[in-house]
Amino acid sequence: MNLKDAAHTLFGLELTDSQVGQFERYTEELLKWNQHTNLTAIDEPEAVMVRHHLDSLSVLKVVTLERGMRVADVGTGAGFPGLPLHIAVDGVYTTLIEATGKKVNFCKHVAETLDLKRVVVLHSRAEEAGHITHQRGKYDLVVARAVARLPILLEYLLPLAKVGGLCVAMKGVTAGQEVEDSAKALSELGGEFVRMETIELPEVAEPHHLVVVKKVRQTPQAYPRKPGVPSKTPIGS
Ligand code: SAM
Repeated sequence: MNLKDAAHTLFGLELTDSQVGQFERYTEELLKWNQHTNLTAIDEPEAVMVRHHLDSLSVLKVVTLERGMRVADVGTGAGFPGLPLHIAVDGVYTTLIEATGKKVNFCKHVAETLDLKRVVVLHSRAEEAGHITHQRGKYDLVVARAVARLPILLEYLLPLAKVGGLCVAMKGVTAGQEVEDSAKALSELGGEFVRMETIELPEVAEPHHLVVVKKVRQTPQAYPRKPGVPSKTPIGS
C-alpha cells in the first residue's frame, strides 16, 4: 500500500501529489543522513512510511488541525511526529523542539529542502523552552513520541500549551499505566485527561496508544523545573 492510499484508508486524509512528493524527499534525506548520523533504527523506505510517517499522522485521528494553528513537537528527534503533521496539514505553524544538535541540524535541513517556511526548529531542552515567553502557553497542540514516561512528559508539554489547547502523547503498551501514574502531575500542571485512542498500523504487531490531555488551567510558574529535574523526580513519585 502506498502512503496516499494508507493515509486515506486509515485516517481519511487526502494527500496531494505534492505532499506525497515531500514525504518521499523527507524519506530520502532521512536515509541518506542516517548513513553518517544516527537518526533512526529504521532503514527501509517502506518501513519509514509506516513507522514514522503514518504513525505520526495517526495524531490526526484525535485532533482536528486547522490552518493558522500552532503546533509544538517536543523531543522531535528526526522530526517525528511534527514534520509529517506539518506536511499533511496546510497552513499550520510548527515548532520542533530538540535537545540534540545533530538532530536539530537534520530537521533544519529538511525544513529548508522542502521549503517549509512555517517550521521553526528550536535547539533547546523542553524544560528551558517552557519558560521562554513566546513559547510558554502559546500552542494549540503539543505532541511528543517516545520522549519520556507520561508524568515526566506532561511537565514538558503542558507549560507550552494554551489554556484550552491539547497535548497528545504517543505511547506504547504502558499507556494505561502511565495515565494512572499521572493523576498528580495532571492536577499540578493544569491538565485534564480527555481520552486514549488505540492505533493499529499495517504490519505493525503492537498497537499504539494516543493519550489526549487538555490544558484547563495555567501551569504554575514553577514548572517546568530545571533541566533533568522532571525525569529525576517526576511529579507524584
Ligand atoms: N520523537 C522522535 C521519534 O519518535 O522518532 C524522537 C524520539 S527519541 C527516542 C527522543 C528524543 O527526545 C531524542 O532526540 C532526545 O534528544 C529528545 N529529548 C529527550 N528529552 C528531551 C528534553 N527534555 N528536551 C528536549 N528534547 C528531549
